[in-house]
Amino acid sequence: MRRRRGSTPLPQGEGSAREARAGEGVILAIAIDAPLRRLFDYQAPAGVEAAALRPGTRTWVPFGRRRVVGVIIECRDTSSIPSAKLRNAHAPIDPEPTFDPGLLELLRWSADYYRHPVGEVIAAAMPAALRQGTAVTPEETLWRLTTFGREQALEQLGKRAVRLRSLITALHETAEATAQTLADATGNGSDVLRTLEARGYVERFIQAATRTEDLSHGAVRPAPTLNDAQRHAVTSVCESLGRFATWLLHGVTGSGKTEVYLQAIAEVLGRGQQALVLVPEIALTPQLIARFRDRFDAPLAIVHSGLSDGERLTAWRDARSGAARIVIGTRSAIFAPLAKPGLIVIDEEHDVSFKQQEGFRYSARDLAIVRAQRLGIPIVLGSATPSLESLARTRRQPETLLLLPQRAADAQPPRLSLIDLRKHAGAQGIATPALLAMRRHLDAGNQVLLFLNRRGYAPVLFCPSCGWSAHCARCDAHVTVHRGSSDLLCHHCGTQQRAIEKCPTCSELVKPVGQGTERIEETIEQLFPGSPLARIDRDSMRRKGELEATLARIDSNEIRILVGTQMLTKGHHFPNVTLVVVLNADQGLFSTDFRASERLAQTIVQVAGRAGRAERAGEVLIQTEYPDHPLLTLLLHGGYDAFAAGALQEREQSGWPPYTRIALLRAEATQRDAPRRFLEAAVSAARELSVRGVKLLGPAPAPMERRAGRHRAQLLLHAATHQPLQRLLGVWIPALEALPEARHVRWSIDVDPAELF
Ligand code: ADP
Ligand code: ZN
Ligand code: ZN
Repeated sequence: MRRRRGSTPLPQGEGSAREARAGEGVILAIAIDAPLRRLFDYQAPAGVEAAALRPGTRTWVPFGRRRVVGVIIECRDTSSIPSAKLRNAHAPIDPEPTFDPGLLELLRWSADYYRHPVGEVIAAAMPAALRQGTAVTPEETLWRLTTFGREQALEQLGKRAVRLRSLITALHETAEATAQTLADATGNGSDVLRTLEARGYVERFIQAATRTEDLSHGAVRPAPTLNDAQRHAVTSVCESLGRFATWLLHGVTGSGKTEVYLQAIAEVLGRGQQALVLVPEIALTPQLIARFRDRFDAPLAIVHSGLSDGERLTAWRDARSGAARIVIGTRSAIFAPLAKPGLIVIDEEHDVSFKQQEGFRYSARDLAIVRAQRLGIPIVLGSATPSLESLARTRRQPETLLLLPQRAADAQPPRLSLIDLRKHAGAQGIATPALLAMRRHLDAGNQVLLFLNRRGYAPVLFCPSCGWSAHCARCDAHVTVHRGSSDLLCHHCGTQQRAIEKCPTCSELVKPVGQGTERIEETIEQLFPGSPLARIDRDSMRRKGELEATLARIDSNEIRILVGTQMLTKGHHFPNVTLVVVLNADQGLFSTDFRASERLAQTIVQVAGRAGRAERAGEVLIQTEYPDHPLLTLLLHGGYDAFAAGALQEREQSGWPPYTRIALLRAEATQRDAPRRFLEAAVSAARELSVRGVKLLGPAPAPMERRAGRHRAQLLLHAATHQPLQRLLGVWIPALEALPEARHVRWSIDVDPAELF
C-alpha cells in the first residue's frame, strides 16, 4: 500500500488515542471525485466526535466554489498545507462509514494498481444517488401526537378549526405518519402540522426507513442429481468455503457449469452468507437470471447499467445490509458492498467486458481474485473457453482446475468442419455447402444459426471503376452502409454522412462491398422465403424487451433461422439449433493484437456451443479463406484445449502475458504531432528515473491512427513481472503529469490492457 508521509490510518473501533482530540486539529485526508491523483486535506468539522469521522465515511466538503461529496480516507495529525489555508469539512452524511474497511482498502489498492485517481475509483464504486449525497439509510420524518395533544387537543380546539382538527383526528387513528400520508388523508399537510407543533399538540421524530429483511435461507427448489464431475466440482468449492481459493471451472457449453454455481451457492446461503455473481452482460442473460430465480426463494439484487438511480441504490443497500442473499451484476458489481460474503463466481470469465476500456481501466475478473483473497473466501471462474491467464494459473496449480468434460444430460458435442471459401462459390458470403447444409437442417425441422461479427449492411461503399471508397472524415476507417438508412455510419465515432449513389471522383455508380448482418438477412430471406428469420445485433435489439421477445419466439420454434453477432454467442440456450455457420473466421487471424487469435478461438467455440444442446447432435461449419491456418487446424482437431496449449507456448516464447506484464500509455490530440512528442518526452522521463527491468517499446501510432478527429499514439511498457512495472509507474506518472508536453494531449495509462489499441 502506498503510505503518504505523516499519515496514519485511524484504527477502527474504540480506544484510539486520537479519539479525544476529535474536531481539534485533526486533518481529514479526503477522496474527491476529480481527475487528480491525490487526496485533499481538510480540517475536521468542529464538535463532531472522532468516531463519526472514520475512514470510509462520506462528508460534504467545500471544493473550489462548489460543495461536493467526499470520502474520508485517513485522519492525520499534520498537513503539508498551512493550517490557516485549510478549509473545514462539513458534517458527515451518515452516522456510519459508507465503505467497510475491507472494501475501502480494496478501492485504494485498485487505484494504486491501475494508477487511477482514487477519488474517481471510489466514485465508481458508488451508485449515483450516493455520489450526490443521498443518505445510505433513508430517513423519514414522522409525526405523532404528544401526550398533551392526545389528551387536550380536541377539547381545546374550537369547532371551527376544521383543518387543525382533521389532522389531530387522523393522528389519533394512525398513531404516527409522514406529512405526505397525512396530506393524502386529510388534504392538509406541513403548514398545519407546524401550527399544531407550535402549540405543543404534535411532535416530529426521525426514523430510519428500513426495508423488512427477508430472512429466508434460500430454500432450494428441486435440483438435478449432479454427475460425477459436477459433484467433484461442487464438493471442492464447498470444502474451500471460509478460505481463499481460486477455482477454474472449465467445461464445454452445456456441461453444467451453471448447475455447479447454483449448488455451491445453495451451500453458501445455507451458511447464512452471500454470493456475488459477475456476468458479462445482464441484458443478454435473461435465462441465467431466470434460473437463479427458479432455484432460490432468497432475495436477489441484480445490478446492471439499465437500472434507474433509485433501483441501483436499493440494490446497493440490499447487498450492503445482507438483505440480498445473491448479488448478480456486471463488471462494476465487483465493488458491491457485502455484509456476509461467502463466495464469488465469475461466469464466462474470458469475456472482454470484464475489463473496463475507458477511464478507470480495471479488470473486474482480476479484482475479484484480489477481493476474494482479501476476504478469505473462494472464487470460481467459469468458462467453456478460459482466458490464457486463467489456464496458465492452473498449470502452476493443477489442483485448482475443475473439469466438466461432458455435456450434462447426455447431449452430444457438435462436429466442426471448415469450408474453403476459395473453392466454393456462393451467394453473398454464404458458400454453397453451407446453403445445402442449411436446407438439410431446416427440412429436418431444426433451427439454423448464422454468425457474423459485423452489423450493418456492408462494411464498405466502393467504386468499381476508380477504386474510391467511402471513409469517415474523422477516423482512418471505412463507413458502414446500413439498409433502409440514407446515411453511412462510422462504427468507431458514430459520425453519419449522407449515402451517395455516384462516385465523387468519377461519377460512376458505387456499390456496397462485403457483408454485414443486414445483408445476410436480405440474402437468406430471398433464398429461404418460407423460414422466418430473426436478426440479433445491437441495431435490431435496441428496444427494451426486444431480446426477451425474440428469444421467446426462438424458443417456441416460430423462428427458424437466427442471424447475429457476438450477442448470440453469450449464454443462450438454443436447444433446437443444430447447425451453426461461422460466416467469416478470418477477421481475427492476422491482427497485430497478440490477443486476437485467443478471442477468435473463444468466439468460434462459444458460438459452436449454441448448437445441439438437447438430444440432437450439432454441426458447425466455419467459412475461411485460410483453411491451413495453424490456429484453425489446432482448434478443429484438438478443440479449445489444443489451441490454448499452442497459444500459451507461443506467448511464452515471444514474451507476452501471461508470462510477462505489460502496460500501455496512450495519448491523443487534435494536433498531429502532439501525441508522439508527449510520448517521446515520456520515454526520456522514464530513462532519467532509471528503474530497471522495464522495456519501453515505441512510441508508435495506434493501429487506427486517427479516430473521432484525434491523432493517437501509444507506448508499450513491458516487464518480466509486475513489481518493476509498478515501481516505474509509481514514480513515472507524477513525472508525466508535470511534463509540459502533457498539456497538449489527453493521455491515459492502461495496466494489463485487454487490447493493444
Ligand atoms: P453450462 O452453464 O455449462 O452451459 P448448464 O448448467 O446451463 O451448463 O447446463 C446445461 C443444461 O443441462 C441445462 O438445461 C441444465 O439444466 C442441464 N443440467 C445441468 N446439470 C445437469 C444434471 N446433473 N442432470 C441433468 N441436467 C443437467
Ligand atoms: Zn469512382
Ligand atoms: Zn469515424
